[in-house]
Amino acid sequence: MSRTTSFKLVLLGESAVGKSSLVLRFVRNEFSDFRESTIGAAFLTQTVNLDENTAIKFEIWDTAGQERYKSLAPIYFRNSNAAVIVYDITQPPETSFEKAKSWVRELQRQADPSIVIMLVGNKADLAANRKTPKEMGEQYAQEEGLLFAEASAKSGTGVEELFMEIARKLPTN
Ligand code: GDP
Ligand code: MG
Repeated sequence: MSRTTSFKLVLLGESAVGKSSLVLRFVRNEFSDFRESTIGAAFLTQTVNLDENTAIKFEIWDTAGQERYKSLAPIYFRNSNAAVIVYDITQPPETSFEKAKSWVRELQRQADPSIVIMLVGNKADLAANRKTPKEMGEQYAQEEGLLFAEASAKSGTGVEELFMEIARKLPTN
């Protein structure tokens, strides 16, 4: 019999970087080019097996990136065990990557110190139009002690893996 431990995970990042798309790929293995933008926040769950004896249930809060909802974000990340902070690799670093860094700083100030933070450069299927170098994300993540991955919600590349990497960092004893 496997034991399931539940963890709260929050998605943060500029709007249109693909937060909802990453969650939908992970939870339902679906993708749409025409998604309605998230209003407030959406709640979804997904369970993954770490090994024969251990399952991890993610309780996922997919927040809206718009500035007008920003004041709500602490409600979602305050009790979170993990955060996925997303930027768009096809945007210049001054935009969504900088925004991702500001979310990291906010979590470092306000979230539980044990929170597992994963920085994700999304839209890796569009690497031909890349404006933010992978090394930039990698280096920043290393400096700040974050997990890092590039992924594509569209192709699915890296999505399951990033959540598995988070699952392996969570305390299950
Ligand atoms: P959110 O506002 O951060 O939740 O972003 P959405 O998930 O709503 O996605 C914004 C737009 O980017 C939508 O048109 C998606 O179809 C598109 N999108 C999301 N992820 C990807 C991806 O990995 N590759 C590509 N090419 N487009 C994506
Ligand atoms: Mg969304």
